[in-house]
Amino acid sequence: MPCAGPVPGPDQVRAGLGAGSALMSRIAYVNGRYLPHREAAVHVEDRGYQFADGVYEVCEVRGAAIVDERRHLQRLTRSLGELRIALPMSLIALGFVLRETVRRNRVRDGLVYLQITRGVARRDFPFPPLSVQPSLVVTARHLDQARIEATAHEGIAVVTVPDNRWDRVDIKSVSLLPNVLAKEAAKAAGAKEAWLVDREGFVTEGASSNAWIVTRDGTLVTRPAQHGILRGVTRSVILDVVAAQSLAFEERKFSVAEAYAAREAFVTSASQRVMPVVLIDGRPIGNGAPGFVATALRRDFSRYAEIG
Ligand code: PLP
Repeated sequence: MPCAGPVPGPDQVRAGLGAGSALMSRIAYVNGRYLPHREAAVHVEDRGYQFADGVYEVCEVRGAAIVDERRHLQRLTRSLGELRIALPMSLIALGFVLRETVRRNRVRDGLVYLQITRGVARRDFPFPPLSVQPSLVVTARHLDQARIEATAHEGIAVVTVPDNRWDRVDIKSVSLLPNVLAKEAAKAAGAKEAWLVDREGFVTEGASSNAWIVTRDGTLVTRPAQHGILRGVTRSVILDVVAAQSLAFEERKFSVAEAYAAREAFVTSASQRVMPVVLIDGRPIGNGAPGFVATALRRDFSRYAEIG
């Protein structure tokens, strides 16, 4: 591993290492090699770069262990299958690369990101020959858990925007431009997340999270994952909590109007687990503070997630 000089570079600063940590560069895995970020690059004709022809996964890292790796790799396999991209290595080897990237970056609490694209080939729309190897990139970074906890304590604001994505959002593809624009609209409005709304006025999901409400009578509601949303791994873990605790639950569409009138709202994702929503389009939800159910689910999540 390369040694860093006395002045931290942008990669070191971005690594977010806590006080007292040895200065080190962030390390990325790129097609068989672990490289400092400044040297980590993919080819200009990588189909991920040219066509967004690839998929990704983001897993939480807690106590240096990967959370729900099995479920994430299961979803990855499905996404690859839907796009007919080959797995570049066995799932066991992939798990090793994920853990090694976490270890080399000394991430205790944070995220590990993996991306697989259809590989490098002369720019041409149809699939390249089968001899073209898929590309694999893995990165890992620290997250400030204290800051995330403080945000969860306050709750976040969301804004609603039209869902103008393609029809196959069940595939975790790197084609995220509508999500980027939705997040930017949220940011411009002083909100943390955008809730995407279909043509009939029903919320599909967040730009990078699944959307949930708790109705006035205490029923948890989230949209079915058969079509129109990504089947979130965190969502699946919360469904296990719901079943184990026999919570009142309906898997159905809910409208923006129903969300405004809800007792609680929250989002789920690997990077935030359960994050209470306290404002939608500037309207306070419930009493305008994180709800009881969201807070309890956030607390109970770790007991049901597979860690390590
Ligand atoms: N929906 C979308 C569009 C997402 O991008 C994400 C996460 O990135 C999720 C839902 C939540 O999925 P998970 O819980 O697996 O992180």
